[in-house]
Amino acid sequence: MGTLEVNREYKVPSQFTAAWQAKCPRCRRADMFATSMYGFKLQKMHEVCPHCSLRFEKEPGYFYVSMFLSYGMNVIEMIIAAVLTYLVTDNLEDPLLYIMVIFPVIFLLSPFNYRFSRVILLYWLTPGLHYVPDTSKNKS
Ligand SMILES: [Zn+2]
Repeated sequence: MGTLEVNREYKVPSQFTAAWQAKCPRCRRADMFATSMYGFKLQKMHEVCPHCSLRFEKEPGYFYVSMFLSYGMNVIEMIIAAVLTYLVTDNLEDPLLYIMVIFPVIFLLSPFNYRFSRVILLYWLTPGLHYVPDTSKNKS
């Protein structure tokens, strides 16, 4: 059941689309995450790709690197939120205003950062991990 059988002629998404959809970087077919980005359950990542059996965390602790990425994304988002707050309110006097804007923004974006820091790590920062068209074929 599911979409794998339905899509007999599977159209492989472009790299960017596949990354945006958090598909496996090698086969671009199956989802990297078992849960949705926003939900009541914590996001859970598949250990291996359900389609091509790629092990996502190629060595123990590999996703520590994505924590740094996620930190960098946080900083950029905080700066953007602060600049937007300034542009909208024209207020430079009230630090509390900025805190009240920035923290909810960071909170709301944390599932996004969690997911895409791992996607970016696997798509663009992992040497030797590329899209392999053969792995995208239907399983017989
Ligand atoms: Zn795969």
